[in-house]
Amino acid sequence: MTQRIAIYPGSFDPITNGHIDLINRASKLFDKVIVGITQNSKKSAFLSIDDRLSIASETLGHIDNIEVMSFNTLLVDFAKAQNAQVILRGLRAVSDFEYEFQLSGMNKHLNPSIETLFMTPAEQYANISSSLVREILSLGGDVSHFVPKPVETLLKKHL
Ligand code: ADP
Repeated sequence: MTQRIAIYPGSFDPITNGHIDLINRASKLFDKVIVGITQNSKKSAFLSIDDRLSIASETLGHIDNIEVMSFNTLLVDFAKAQNAQVILRGLRAVSDFEYEFQLSGMNKHLNPSIETLFMTPAEQYANISSSLVREILSLGGDVSHFVPKPVETLLKKHL
């Protein structure tokens, strides 16, 4: 039988409890979920690709059917190369919708055989974003409710 494979792409700079909640949910729906970490050309990265990869692998190591990879090609090409049928994206609020809608439309145009699927996190994670985590941290705030412990440790070291 064909394996159901989803790609969850993003900058994950850093991975947060919101991302992890979504990955946990998706891991129950798919045979395999590939967390695809990209260097977003519009954003300058806070953590290096290597740090983002290792911290995501460390915090997701307990889930069997998760793979963490980086990629720098077109998302639909990466999905095809990994035999993934689905691109998974998270929706937190209406503000996410417009960009995500546009992105899914473009990706559908680029490869109509790959579906974009949206999932929402549990309520308590809906306000977490990597950019706010970075900002709070840079101002000396406590981010322990937003990221797993190893991420917090790495972020503090990074500062
Ligand atoms: P990108 O730079 O591609 O937006 P992010 O790492 O910021 O990547 O996010 C990756 C995906 O995870 C996006 O679909 C984003 O909407 C979603 N996401 C981010 N934070 C959360 C959260 N707290 N809960 C659920 N989904 C989230």
